[in-house]
Amino acid sequence: MPRDGAVPQRLVTGSTLEDAGFDKCVTPRGIEKILSTAQELVPKLANAEIVELWCGLRPDTPDHLPLLGPAGVDGLTIATGHYRNGILLTPITAKLVREWIVEKQVSMDWEIFDPLRFAGGGNIADGGDSLADDQASGNPAGSEFAHK
Ligand SMILES: Cc1cc2nc3c(=O)[nH]c(=O)nc-3n(C[C@H](O)[C@H](O)[C@H](O)COP(=O)(O)OP(=O)(O)OC[C@H]3O[C@@H](n4cnc5c(N)ncnc54)[C@H](O)[C@@H]3O)c2cc1C
Repeated sequence: MPRDGAVPQRLVTGSTLEDAGFDKCVTPRGIEKILSTAQELVPKLANAEIVELWCGLRPDTPDHLPLLGPAGVDGLTIATGHYRNGILLTPITAKLVREWIVEKQVSMDWEIFDPLRFAGGGNIADGGDSLADDQASGNPAGSEFAHK
């Protein structure tokens, strides 16, 4: 994809996808895959200068759903774990985060995204007992937040 109006000849090509933990190394295998496909599509790229190589992370979760909502610590709201769709999901994520922070309640079901679902029955702040209490009282986030 052409990028940067000031340097019209510059192209960005990508990408690969692998389970690499937190390792952000650019690998020969990844480079080869991207460059061979790019040259197949645009043969003249065989003579192009490689200006930059880059690698990023796609934050994933054990159930492949994002972590969204209050984290059980006063003033801490989490929005991450969007894997390969974080850009695409920006509008709905921003809407939910705004509702949590500004309105203290959200306009849709969000429990499946509860950031505490992997906390082992615990509240991040106190190590756990309060989440069970909150769930018993119908407040799965362990906070004052509620549905609209
Ligand atoms: C190659 C590639 C292509 C993608 N293409 C798409 C696409 O087409 N469409 C789409 O919807 N999504 C795409 N994604 C996924 C999208 O980029 C992610 O889902 C999104 O960026 C995740 O947002 P995030 O805020 O959770 O994490 P990030 O965007 O990773 O943000 C985390 C931030 O925290 C900072 N940080 C980390 N550790 C610390 C620390 N200790 N202290 C301070 N700051 C720290 C990092 O520098 C970073 O700025 C792509 C991802 C990659 C890698």
